[in-house]
Amino acid sequence: MAETWELAEGVEVVELDGDVELPVRCFLLKEDEKRILVDTGYGETVPQLLNILEKRRLSSIVLTHLHIDHSGGALAVKKAKNVPIIYHRLELETLNQAINLDKSIHRMFADVSVDFLQEALHVLKVLPAPDFFAEDGMAMSMWRLMHTPGHTPGHVILVGENHAITGDLILLKETSNVAYVPLPGYHPLRNYLESLVKVASLDVEMLVPSHGPLIKDPMPRVREIFSHHRERLRQAATALEKGRTSIREVAEEIRWSKGSFSSLTPLDKWLALLETISHLDFLAETGYAIPGNSLTYTLSNNPDWRNIEQKLEQLSNGIYRP
Ligand SMILES: [Zn+2]
Ligand SMILES: [Zn+2]
Repeated sequence: MAETWELAEGVEVVELDGDVELPVRCFLLKEDEKRILVDTGYGETVPQLLNILEKRRLSSIVLTHLHIDHSGGALAVKKAKNVPIIYHRLELETLNQAINLDKSIHRMFADVSVDFLQEALHVLKVLPAPDFFAEDGMAMSMWRLMHTPGHTPGHVILVGENHAITGDLILLKETSNVAYVPLPGYHPLRNYLESLVKVASLDVEMLVPSHGPLIKDPMPRVREIFSHHRERLRQAATALEKGRTSIREVAEEIRWSKGSFSSLTPLDKWLALLETISHLDFLAETGYAIPGNSLTYTLSNNPDWRNIEQKLEQLSNGIYRP
């Protein structure tokens, strides 16, 4: 059953669990006599959340991003409370991409069951349209929104005086999925690492993620995450060196946290394929690989691993040395 506790004055944390894969947190931030609700949990946790919201007046709903563990309750809360809902424009564009799945992506996933996507899309199709778009730097009560792309293109966090509510950007026990989305100018892994460094460098006492333990000292975790992606880049590079060119062939050469590619569930295969593209895109941006047609990649004429390490070190702003 849901539990609420006070993180600081005017900052209430709602822990939603029960029959869900991964427990998730929502937040109630004081705004005069009302509360801003940050994220809405899963569809399954709506009764728990509505029960808690019964005694509270809301001023608005902010969604850090549109994954179903954050946006699944949005329609129900909007209906019950009739308040503006706010999320980033790029989340809406990503959603439209997912609904009109790009044909080349469809081909690529032809042999992976996508039934689970239909289920997720069902929730997302009924998501209320945003009343306002979340913008980088926008003030909300005592908090400031920060656009932190990478986990998703329009992921936002809320930065307060002593705490930052960081959504799925940085988790202590898991590495956030960094999924490719075909949006112009979007480079998921580079953007993710940039966001990570920006957030780790905030002058706050604590980062408060949506899942798992709170993060007091983010630097060691940031180093681990850099090193995790360096290792995946290395594995993707090795696959290209062996002549693998399709996204799937490269994904099969990567060691995934949950096991080999073939042993993953359809959902995890899908996430692994999208994350593989993010790594290949990083290799392409640094001159190690060349993108081909239909999401294939080949080794460039002059692949130099030192360029990758230099790029990682430069992005980390001195936090990480390969
Ligand atoms: Zn997420
Ligand atoms: Zn999440």
